[in-house]
Amino acid sequence: MVADETEQQLREKIGSQKKSIADLPPLPCIVHETGFTSPETKSKAQLIKELSDNEDRLELLLESKRISAVIRLQDELHPPEDSEDCPICLKTIKHMNNTTVVRFYCCGGFTCKKCSEERIAKGKEEGFDEMYRGKCPLCPERMPKEGDFKKVNSLVLEHANKGRAWAQMHVGLHHLGGMNGFSLDENKGLKLMKEAADLRYPDALLEMAFAYSGETLERDESKYMYYLKEAADLGHPYAQQELALTYSTHEKEKRLHYTTLAASQGNSAACGMLGHYFSSAECGLTNSLTLAKHYSEKYFEGTEPDDNPLSAYKIAFAAFELGLDRYEGIMEIPGHSPIPKALFWARKAQQGDSPPIRGNATKLISIIETKAKSHCTNCRKGAEGSSFKRCVRCLGAWYCGKECQVQHWKAGHKIDCTKRK
Ligand SMILES: [Zn+2]
Ligand SMILES: [Zn+2]
Ligand SMILES: [Zn+2]
Ligand SMILES: [Zn+2]
Repeated sequence: MVADETEQQLREKIGSQKKSIADLPPLPCIVHETGFTSPETKSKAQLIKELSDNEDRLELLLESKRISAVIRLQDELHPPEDSEDCPICLKTIKHMNNTTVVRFYCCGGFTCKKCSEERIAKGKEEGFDEMYRGKCPLCPERMPKEGDFKKVNSLVLEHANKGRAWAQMHVGLHHLGGMNGFSLDENKGLKLMKEAADLRYPDALLEMAFAYSGETLERDESKYMYYLKEAADLGHPYAQQELALTYSTHEKEKRLHYTTLAASQGNSAACGMLGHYFSSAECGLTNSLTLAKHYSEKYFEGTEPDDNPLSAYKIAFAAFELGLDRYEGIMEIPGHSPIPKALFWARKAQQGDSPPIRGNATKLISIIETKAKSHCTNCRKGAEGSSFKRCVRCLGAWYCGKECQVQHWKAGHKIDCTKRK
C-alpha cells in the first residue's frame, strides 16, 4: 500500500501530538494533584482526545484503502456488466438490484434509490399517496394506487410477456407465494423466475438460490451455491453477505472478500461481521478496537429491525477499552468519559437473548460500576460505606451530593451522558 499525502500528513501530526503529550506528566499524577476538572487535567485530556481522533482517522483511512483494493480486485475478476445511469440524477448505478433501484410498473423504467427516496419525501410534503405518489416520474402515466393489485398485475404481466427480467421475477415470486392476486403455482413461478435468472437478473438469481436453499424446493447444494455466487458477483450485497457465510475458516480470504464487498454497499449484517472480525483478529485482519467499534456502530445504523447483542457488546467493550487505554486508566474526566456510553451499549447487549453475551455484558457492567462508584465522580471523595447518588439519566456517574452533580454536569458530563434504554 502506498502512503498518499493525506496519510503522510496524518502520520506526521500523530507523531508530533504524541511527543507533546509525552512531555506532560502522566494523567493519573495530574488528576491526583489537581482533580478531575482542573484546567491542567482538562488540557491534557483535550490533547489526548485530539490525538485519538487523528489515530481513528488514520485507521479509517487505511481501512478505506483496503476496501478500495477489494472492490478493484472484484471489478477485475467480474467487471460490472449491468451498470446503467439513473435517468433523473444521471449518476451511474454500478449494479442494478432491489437495493439500488426502484421500478415503475407503468413504463417499467427505474430510478436510483436516492432519487426515489427524495421523491417519496417530496410526495409526503405535498400530501401525495406515500407509496405511489401520483404520477410516474418517467412517463405520462398515472401510477396504480397502493393495493390496486388488479392494475399492478396487469401492467407487470405485460412487461413479463415482453421478456423483461424484473417483471418475470415479480410474477414468478408472487406465483411461488400465491400472493397479491396471483395464484399459488410453484411450477409457473419457478419457470418465470428461472427465465429471469437466465437473463442474469441479480434479484432473480438470489431468489433461485433461496429456492434451492431448502426454502421452497428440496435443498440442492450445488444449485444453491451456483445461483448465490452469480448474484454475489453481479454485485447483490445480500448475496455477497450470504455467500461469505458459506466459506469456512479455511477459506477466510473469500469470506473476508465478500463480507467487505457487502459492507461497502451498506449491508448491515456484513458490517456486524466485520466488527466482529476486527475485534477478534479473524479472517486475517489485525485486531482494531477502533474499527470493531466503527463497524458495530454501522450495524446499528442499518435498517434491519432485529437487534444484535454481539455488536452492542463490541461497542461497549471497545468504548471502555479505548477510553481506559487512551486516558491512562482515568475514566472520569468530564467530557472525556467512556463510562456512560460503554454502560449504555453493555445494557443493550444484556437485553439480548444470547446467554454468553449477556454474561459478558453483565461482567463488563460490574467491572465499570465497581471501579466508578467507589468515589464521587466529581470531587473524588471516597464512598466508604455511604452510598452515592447516581446520575439518573445515564446511571454512569456517582456523586457525593447535588453540588458535585451540578458542577460535573457543567464541566462536561452533559457531553458524556447517554440516555439509558
Ligand atoms: Zn438518481
Ligand atoms: Zn412510468
Ligand atoms: Zn463530590
Ligand atoms: Zn449522566
